[in-house]
Amino acid sequence: MRETLVVGAGIAGLVVARELVLQGHRVRVLEADDRAGGQLLRKTIAGIPLDAGAEAFATRGGTVRTYLERLGIADRVVAPLDAPAWLHARTGTTVPLPAVSLLGIPSAPLAEDVVAVVGRRAAWRGMTDALLPGPVGAKSATLGELVRRRMGDGILEQLVAPVVEGIHSKHPDELPVSVAPGLVHHLLRENSLARAVARLRTDAPAGSLVAGLDGGMGMLVDALLAELDRYGVTVEYGVRVAEVHPDRVVLAVDPDEAAADPDAEPEGEIREGLVVVAAPGLVTPADGRAATRTATHLMTLVIEAGTDAARALAANPRGTGVLVARGTDVTARALTHVSAKWAWVREAAAGREVVRLSYESPPTADRARRDAELLLGVRIPEIAVVAAEATTWLRAGRFEAAPGIPITGEQVSGTGLASVIDHAHRLAEIIGPPAPEAAAGSSTDPAASTERTAS
Ligand SMILES: Cc1cc2nc3c(=O)[nH]c(=O)nc-3n(C[C@H](O)[C@H](O)[C@H](O)COP(=O)(O)OP(=O)(O)OC[C@H]3O[C@@H](n4cnc5c(N)ncnc54)[C@H](O)[C@@H]3O)c2cc1C
Repeated sequence: MRETLVVGAGIAGLVVARELVLQGHRVRVLEADDRAGGQLLRKTIAGIPLDAGAEAFATRGGTVRTYLERLGIADRVVAPLDAPAWLHARTGTTVPLPAVSLLGIPSAPLAEDVVAVVGRRAAWRGMTDALLPGPVGAKSATLGELVRRRMGDGILEQLVAPVVEGIHSKHPDELPVSVAPGLVHHLLRENSLARAVARLRTDAPAGSLVAGLDGGMGMLVDALLAELDRYGVTVEYGVRVAEVHPDRVVLAVDPDEAAADPDAEPEGEIREGLVVVAAPGLVTPADGRAATRTATHLMTLVIEAGTDAARALAANPRGTGVLVARGTDVTARALTHVSAKWAWVREAAAGREVVRLSYESPPTADRARRDAELLLGVRIPEIAVVAAEATTWLRAGRFEAAPGIPITGEQVSGTGLASVIDHAHRLAEIIGPPAPEAAAGSSTDPAASTERTAS
C-alpha cells in the first residue's frame, strides 16, 4: 500500500496522522524542524520546564478534553488559578478586567469595573446596545465591526481590543465574529450584545474557559508521538517541503547548500498515494493572495526566590496576568504571571516567580523587566532576574484554501488548539479509509500496522 504523506508535525499534523493511521492508512510525517510540536514547545529555563508556546486550551465544546481522554492523558488536565486577568488601561492604570465579560465585551457596560477602564462617556455609549434591535451588527464581517456598531469605539478600543490582541495577536477588526462562537446567535435571541455575553458566560461551567496540562502542553506532543510510534508511523525530521501536489511533494534545497549555491535545484521529491498538508505557506489561498505572517516575540523572566520582588509578586499577584491597551508607556502586549497561573509551575519554580511577556517587535531583557515592573506594580531590580529567555514565533494568517490538496492547521482552522484539533480530526474523517485496492493487505488495526513496519 502506498503511504500517505503528512507535511508538518505540529499538533494539526500529529492529530491528522494519528486519525489516518487509525483508519488504515500507512502514514509518513515530514517535518522541517528537528522536533515535533510546532507552536507547542517545552523549554527549560533556569531549570524550570515551561511552555514556550501555547500553554492552555479553550474548554468550549469539550473538543480538546475528549481528545485528551482518547490519548489517555485527561487525568493531567488542570484549571488555572481562578482569578480575573487585569488590564493596563490607556490611562496608565492597571485594573482587574470586568468580572462578567467575553473577550473584553462587557455584560454590563455601566458597571463600575467597566467605567474604571473606559470612562463614563464610553460606558454610556455601550448602553445603546440595549436599545438597538438584535439584527443591528449581526451580519458584521468582523468582531470589531460588531462591537463598534453596538457598543461604540470606546469599549472596542479600550477594553475589547487589548483583550483580543492579548489572546489572538490581532485587532478585533481583523478577526471574524466566529472567534466568539455563539455570540451572534445569542445576540439575535437576546436583542443585546451585553445580554448575549451574560448568557454565554452563564451557560459556561464556572472557571472553565481555559485549562492546561499538569507538566505543560508539551505533554500532548509527547502523548501523540508515543501513539504514532506505537502505530509504526515515522516522523522524519529536517525534511522541508517546498511544493505539494496531490500525490507527491518536492523537497526544499538544504539551506547551507542554498547559501553556497543560490541556483541549486530542489533536493528531490517523494511520490506517494496521498498528500495532506499541515504546515503553513505551502498551499495558495483561494483568492490567490499571499498568506500573511505575524511575529510574536516572547520574553520569559525568572525572578530569584527570597528577593523582595519575588515575595511581593507571590503576595499580591495581579490575577493570572495583565493585558495591555495601546498608547501607554508599556510596549508589551500582554504579561502572563505563569507561576501564579499554574500550580505545577509554582511547584517546579520552588519560590522563584515566572512571568512571560509578549511583544510585536523583539524586546531587550531590560525592556521586559521594566514593563513587568509597570504591569505588576512591583520593583524588580536587575539583580533579581536570574534568567531572561527570548522566543520568537512566526504565525501564518488564516485563509480559505482552494479545493484540491487536503489541508489542515491553524491557517485554515483558525488559531488555538481547540480549533486546530477539531479541524484535523474532521479532515481525517472526510478523507476516510484508504481506497480498497490501496488498502489490500492492510488492516485498520493499529497493532497490525506496527507489525508491518517492524517486519
Ligand atoms: C506564543 C503562543 C502562545 C499560544 N498560546 C495558545 C494557548 O494558550 N492556547 C491555544 O489554544 N493556542 C495557543 N496558541 C496557538 C496554537 O499554539 C496554534 O494555533 C497551534 O499550535 C497551531 O498548530 P498547527 O499544527 O496548525 O501549526 P504549527 O504548530 O505551526 O505546526 C506547523 C508545523 O509544520 C512545520 N513546517 C512548516 N513548514 C514546513 C515545510 N515547508 N515542510 C515541512 N514542515 C514544515 C513546522 O516546523 C511545524 O512543526 C499559541 C501560539 C503561540 C505562538
